[in-house]
Amino acid sequence: MYYTIKTLGCKVNQIDSMRLAESLEEIGLAEAPPGESAALCLVNTCTVTARTDTQCRQMIRRLVRENPGARVVVTGCYAQTNPEAVRTIPGVARVLANREKGEARRILRGLVSDHPERVAEAPAGRRSAVRPGEPMRRVNGRSRAFVQVQDGCNAFCAYCIVPFGRGPLKSEDPDTVVRQVEMLVDQGYPEIVLSGIHLGAYGMDRREPNGLARLLRRLVRIPGAWRVRLSSVEPREVDDELIALVTGEAKICPHLHIPLQCGDTAVLRQMGRPYSREEFAELVFRLRELSDRMALGTDLIAGLPGESDRSFENSCEWLRALPLTHFHVFPYSARPGTAAATMDGQLSPARRKERAARLRAIGRRLQSDFVRRMKGRVLRVVPISDGELAGTPLKVLSENYLEGFISDPPTPMGGIFAAKVSRTDGSRIFLERES
Ligand code: SF4
Repeated sequence: MYYTIKTLGCKVNQIDSMRLAESLEEIGLAEAPPGESAALCLVNTCTVTARTDTQCRQMIRRLVRENPGARVVVTGCYAQTNPEAVRTIPGVARVLANREKGEARRILRGLVSDHPERVAEAPAGRRSAVRPGEPMRRVNGRSRAFVQVQDGCNAFCAYCIVPFGRGPLKSEDPDTVVRQVEMLVDQGYPEIVLSGIHLGAYGMDRREPNGLARLLRRLVRIPGAWRVRLSSVEPREVDDELIALVTGEAKICPHLHIPLQCGDTAVLRQMGRPYSREEFAELVFRLRELSDRMALGTDLIAGLPGESDRSFENSCEWLRALPLTHFHVFPYSARPGTAAATMDGQLSPARRKERAARLRAIGRRLQSDFVRRMKGRVLRVVPISDGELAGTPLKVLSENYLEGFISDPPTPMGGIFAAKVSRTDGSRIFLERES
C-alpha cells in the first residue's frame, strides 16, 4: 500500500512530514512512486497567509481527485486553526491536530487497518531522510539533515497566526538533541540544520537560560567533519554568547537569519516586536564587522497595518544601507483571530504586493553585491544535488548560504570540501577545486 505526503510551509513542517513518513513506513506503507496512486494521502498544511490557505485547499482537492478511493488525512497549522474549512472538503477522511502528530502512527494505522493484507505486501526500502540507523542517500542531494529542537511560540506578534497553530514553546531535551546529531554525523551528514518555530527561545520552557548557546557548545564537541547551521533567530536573542559562537566556532556556519519584519520602529512596536530598527542595525553592523563573509538574512512583511507611504519609503532607503545578504519577503496577509487583522491602517492587497516587489528588488541587489564580494574567496561547501551522477556540474551550498556549482568536485565526494569562487552571476557562485 502506498502513501504520499505533501507539505506546505516552513522547515518545521518539513521535518514533521519526515517523521510522519517514518510512522507510515513503520506500519508497512511505502512512498508512492511517480505515476502510482496512493491509498493514504497526507497533507501537512500551513496558514501563514490567506494565499497559503488557498494553496492548501487546492492541494487537498488535487490529491482527492488524483487518488480515487484514498484516505486523505490533513494536518498542520491550517487544519489546526480552521478544522471546519478542511473537514468539509469532500474526500477528507480525517483532520489530525498538530498535537496529535506524535500519535500519528496509531491513528494512521487505524485508518488503513481494513486493508491488512495490502499493508503486509508493502514494498520495503523507501525510507525518509533522517530515519535513525540508515545510511544517508546523497544521490537525492540530502547531505543536509534538519533537526527540530523546539516547537511552538509564546510571543504572539500581532500579525502572526503561528502561536495559534503550533501552541506554546516546547523545547526538546538537550541530551536527546545531542544524541540525534551524533547519530546523523555518524551516518555521514556533513551539515546539520537546527530548526524550530522560535529557535532563539530554545530552553526557556525548561528553565534553561541561554539554552541555544549551551546546546551549541555541546554540539561543537561532537567530533568529525561536519558543521551546524542555525535557522532563524529573533533579534533580541542574538546575544553576545551566540555572536561569539557563530563568529568564532569553526563548526558553526557563519550565517544568521534575523527576522526584522519591518523597517519602522513605530509599526514594530504596534506589532509587539520588542526592538527598534536602530537596535537591529547595530546588531547587523556589529556582525558584519566581526565577519565579512557572514550571511545575514532577514524576513520582511510588506504593508503591515499602519505602514504609511512615507514610512515605507524611509524603510527602503534605510534597508539599502544595511549589510544584509538575503531577504524573505511576504506581503502582509490578515489572519483572522490575530490582533493586527482588526487594526486601523490596513492596506489594499495591490499595495502590499507592490511593496513586496520593491523589497525583493532591494534584497536581490544586496545579495548580488555580497555574492560579488565573494569572488576569489575559498568557501567550504556541501553538495546539494546529484549532479555528479548526471554528469552535470554539482550543485553546492557554502557555509555562508550561497548556492553555486562546481564542475570538478573531489572524488569521492559527499562531505564538506573547500573550493574557490572563480565567477559569480547574480545570486550564484561558480567554484573551482582548490589545487
Ligand atoms: S516570534 Fe512572532 S513572528 Fe515568530 S512565530 Fe512567534 S509570534 Fe510568530
